[in-house]
Amino acid sequence: MRGAILGDIIGSPYEFDMGGKTKIFPLFIEESKFTDDTVMTIAVADALLLAQEYGFDDDEEKTKAMLAKSMRKWGRMFPYKGYGSRFNHWLNDPSAGPYGSFGNGSAMRVSSAGWLYDSLEETRKHAKWTAEVTHNHPDGIKGAVAAASAIFLARSGVAQEGIREYIEKAIKYDLSYTLDEIRPSYRHFESCEYTVPEAVTAFLEGRDFEDVIRNAVSLGGDCDTLTCIAGSIGEAYFDVPEDLKQECRNRIPADMNAVLDRFDKARLPRIDCHDRSLSDFWKPAGNMPEAQDAPQKAGFLDTVIKFFTKK
Ligand SMILES: [Mg+2]
Repeated sequence: MRGAILGDIIGSPYEFDMGGKTKIFPLFIEESKFTDDTVMTIAVADALLLAQEYGFDDDEEKTKAMLAKSMRKWGRMFPYKGYGSRFNHWLNDPSAGPYGSFGNGSAMRVSSAGWLYDSLEETRKHAKWTAEVTHNHPDGIKGAVAAASAIFLARSGVAQEGIREYIEKAIKYDLSYTLDEIRPSYRHFESCEYTVPEAVTAFLEGRDFEDVIRNAVSLGGDCDTLTCIAGSIGEAYFDVPEDLKQECRNRIPADMNAVLDRFDKARLPRIDCHDRSLSDFWKPAGNMPEAQDAPQKAGFLDTVIKFFTKK
């Protein structure tokens, strides 16, 4: 979660392609502030922790009700943080249900789900629920499941190449492009399909946590969310250096830090040595029906047409 929050804060000045498409930049400047990505990351964690604490985390209906309640509560506490217009409408209408979004909001808020469950199946199930309260389009669910699964595998000791294999074969994201190939034409699109594969690639080409963050920022685009997702996976694989953990603590309010403290007590361990095989956690047959049924990456024109209906 701190990786997600730091990614959001560090990426925030460069949203809407405002960065220089370079890895060389100061990590923190005056404009580096947490945004909707952090608020909703905390909101989802708070809800999943409450579901565990009160023992109803296996109950889909109750967990989803808690997720919606928590997102609306935290959204009211921190308004004007860059929420998409349709999400903002949902936040302010307690009777509103899911609205078919395939925006990247489902993937940027899901990171806690990667740490709270002891199997890939449970992780995917809860990630799906966190998406479905608003982002119940197959692409929205797929993005959340992809991010949480990558975090689960990264913290469980699977090497980067194993995580790549899982995201390509189980999730069905195309990871064949390198950062250098993606970067020149990459633009601000707030969809899962044009954010999550790029965030995964920023992680896969990273050598340590800070390198993952710099990789993501260097792509440009929807930089706070892209870097949030990349950072959430980078944290699970590399851990976050102590000085950056302290920066994270200093840059968010006390009530958010209180959720992080509860999360630290509840989360499962991170394995530092990446010598586990992907096959210990996943076999190719019969997995991920929701991702296998999902449509392949939408065409560029399709994304442009749907641009105003996202997030
Ligand atoms: Mg944001």
